[in-house]
Amino acid sequence: MGESVPRSAEVVIVGAGSTGLSIAYHLASLGVRDVVVVDRLGIASGSTGRSAGGIRQQFASEVNVRLSLYSVQAYERFKEEVGQDIDFRQYGYLFLATTPEEVEAFSTNVALQQSLGVPVRLIAKEEAKEIVPQLHVGDVLAATFCPTDGYADPYSVAMGYAAAARRMGVSIVEGVEVTGIKVTRGRVTSVVTGKGEISTHTVINAAGPWAGVIGRMAGVDLPIQPFRRQVFVTGPFDKLPERLPMVIEFRTHFYFRREGPGILFGMTDPDEPPGFHTHVDWAFLEKVLARAVHRVPVFAEASVHRGWAGLYDTTPDDNPILGKIPEVEGFIVAAGFSGHGFMHAPAVGRCIAEIVVFGEAKTVDISSLSYGRFVQGGRGRELYVI
Ligand SMILES: Cc1cc2nc3c(=O)[nH]c(=O)nc-3n(C[C@H](O)[C@H](O)[C@H](O)COP(=O)(O)OP(=O)(O)OC[C@H]3O[C@@H](n4cnc5c(N)ncnc54)[C@H](O)[C@@H]3O)c2cc1C
Repeated sequence: MGESVPRSAEVVIVGAGSTGLSIAYHLASLGVRDVVVVDRLGIASGSTGRSAGGIRQQFASEVNVRLSLYSVQAYERFKEEVGQDIDFRQYGYLFLATTPEEVEAFSTNVALQQSLGVPVRLIAKEEAKEIVPQLHVGDVLAATFCPTDGYADPYSVAMGYAAAARRMGVSIVEGVEVTGIKVTRGRVTSVVTGKGEISTHTVINAAGPWAGVIGRMAGVDLPIQPFRRQVFVTGPFDKLPERLPMVIEFRTHFYFRREGPGILFGMTDPDEPPGFHTHVDWAFLEKVLARAVHRVPVFAEASVHRGWAGLYDTTPDDNPILGKIPEVEGFIVAAGFSGHGFMHAPAVGRCIAEIVVFGEAKTVDISSLSYGRFVQGGRGRELYVI
């Protein structure tokens, strides 16, 4: 807190979530240290601080699997490399298929994931029940399990990247709002904040659910919309295993995992309209609990202690927009993560830093995630969106 707003910088990053801070850390690691991260509120105050923290390699597209493979390894060595314990628990992700179409999609996707080196398996419902004996599997047709998936603490990841970036010279200014981006003859020239202007030639939009607002400041119409997502946590509950994987019922997106002595759980509300509000809808909890008791009957004995809501930054194909915006020189976007931005933060940070330094991403080929796909009508939708 309390850092003043510099008058100029080589790179300005809007947003101090796991995305913006990973970019800052990777830029500084590559030698670009004249970097300012600006956040309206503070580190991890957006989606990052409200995330369920899930980290998985089970995706339907090669680019997402590759972003995950890099990120899982980065999270495994995070403490040693970045200097922060992030409580990464690799207890696995167990996806449950309850329709024949899902079984077919799982088979295709497992083949893709295995071909890229993910230790995932398509398993029978009996094996799913061996992993989590309390599951009701009467209506389950098949499942997939990847033991190296898991979850970590997003707040610690953000703080770890922030501290390491600061040690290398990056400024992180909190409580300062970006209110404008000046573009002259098609090129970014400065970022306007509530506490003065920062002259720069490179702005990175890592504003998560607010990325559309930041895009409009630069005259770019990004197809990114905010959608509320709610999470609940039970009190201490010992009727489920200690080493509980993240379990996901694919059809309803009902999921749960352990959170300390309790259980963290949530579900997507298909009727949720776009919007920025984040109040908890306790009536929705009843629907989630009904699903929970169907899938795990002992859930009926749990008591819910708290809940919160955050925002997904969603694009029409549930994939992020990564890279330069050709129409505005110096304007780079890393947003639209549609619910999987935390798990991909290490790889995305590295790739965006490479774009700044080398002109293109080298760690993973992210060209299919460019803004241009919406202009050209591009690629397919990501199926694994929870
Ligand atoms: C309930 C929930 C569960 C989730 N579960 C998972 C999960 O299991 N796994 C996973 O990978 N992802 C999950 N996500 C998504 C994940 O949290 C995000 O994709 C990820 O944290 C990346 O966030 P970000 O840094 O891009 O954006 P954010 O963390 O939202 O950061 C954006 C920042 O921009 C700042 N900002 C906005 N406007 C301005 C402005 N005008 N000026 C200055 N600053 C501004 C905000 O204050 C904010 O801090 C979940 C999200 C939610 C809400």
